[in-house]
Amino acid sequence: MALTRVFCGQLIDATGAPPVKDAVIEVEGEKIVGATGCAAAEGMTPRAGEIDLRGYTVMPGMVDCHDHLGIDAGDEFAQSREPISYIVVKGVQTAKKLLRAGITTLRDVGEPEHIDFSWRRAVREGLMEGPDMLVSGQFLTRTGGHAWFFGNEVDGVDAIRRSARKQLKAGADLLKIMVTGGMSTPGSVPTVCEFTREEIAAAVDEAHRAGKKIAAHIQGGPGATIAIEEGIDTLEHGSSLTENQLKMMAERGTYLVITTGLGKSIMNDPNTPESYRQKVKASWPTRIANVRRTRALGIKVATGGDTWHARPVDELDTLVSAGYTPMEALQCVTRNGADCCGLLDSVGTIEAGKLANLVAVDGDPLSDVHAVEKVRFVMKRGVVYVS
Ligand SMILES: [Zn+2]
Repeated sequence: MALTRVFCGQLIDATGAPPVKDAVIEVEGEKIVGATGCAAAEGMTPRAGEIDLRGYTVMPGMVDCHDHLGIDAGDEFAQSREPISYIVVKGVQTAKKLLRAGITTLRDVGEPEHIDFSWRRAVREGLMEGPDMLVSGQFLTRTGGHAWFFGNEVDGVDAIRRSARKQLKAGADLLKIMVTGGMSTPGSVPTVCEFTREEIAAAVDEAHRAGKKIAAHIQGGPGATIAIEEGIDTLEHGSSLTENQLKMMAERGTYLVITTGLGKSIMNDPNTPESYRQKVKASWPTRIANVRRTRALGIKVATGGDTWHARPVDELDTLVSAGYTPMEALQCVTRNGADCCGLLDSVGTIEAGKLANLVAVDGDPLSDVHAVEKVRFVMKRGVVYVS
């Protein structure tokens, strides 16, 4: 296999190491085989066919831990009523947009009719362009529960187990359960626990016995405490968590996946249903205060676009405003994302042996995180998609 060298103006490997000026990454096939600094000092320059990113900052491909390719911000109920064939096409376009924004790994946490399994396969086979995907299949919600219109409505421990097993049988990489009410569903209250403890425990048990993780949609209220106690792996959104609940997460190593870009967009988008906007507004101060607390408490944070796609800059912005250093914030969208997905051995940082998922941005994200909006180069598994 031919060795390709990637020349970088600045390299941020996201391991936590300081940035390296004038670095060279060696790529062979789909993997990184090495990375070194001081290229110019050693007289190394790009040869024909090698990749010259000396004007840019190179960082790992980003990891979006919470997305729904088939649905956009706005009226989710109305979108879920569209023909499935239309939702499929929309998702194909969104996947491409995500990859072009520098997201090379995606965790899709719920789609109707197992479309996500086909998208994951189509990306693997090269039929569509997008990030590598982990998929949950249909999420578990109770009858009439949050986002019931595109989930699998299940009631009682047996039904929960059956649905979980169906997702796993179809090839789910993880499970997803709607533990509390949500913002986007009319009539749903974000702090109401929508399942019993026994139902939540059954879902966790099914995931873990299959060696998979389970993500839980949780805004706040007693459902958050129960889910953390029962061992859910990743808590999604968490807009109304209490100090105590955050402490429990820190102790147990539960991931918090923040999705604040969507919240900002909802508050500003006039097409959003009014009840949705009001709920987001009401929870906003707590949500932002909680992001600030995560750093002090040492909670593991990853990020997701949710239905507001391809804007990792919004989460970076939130994190930096909440007191994270730009380096720590960048690690949340790369290294931590990979860890949250259970993929840290293959993605999330630029290290020998990992997949060659590289992004080059114009500017220095360590002085201004908005540089990540200026994506000039994307490589996934050694293949160049943006150049
Ligand atoms: Zn979601």
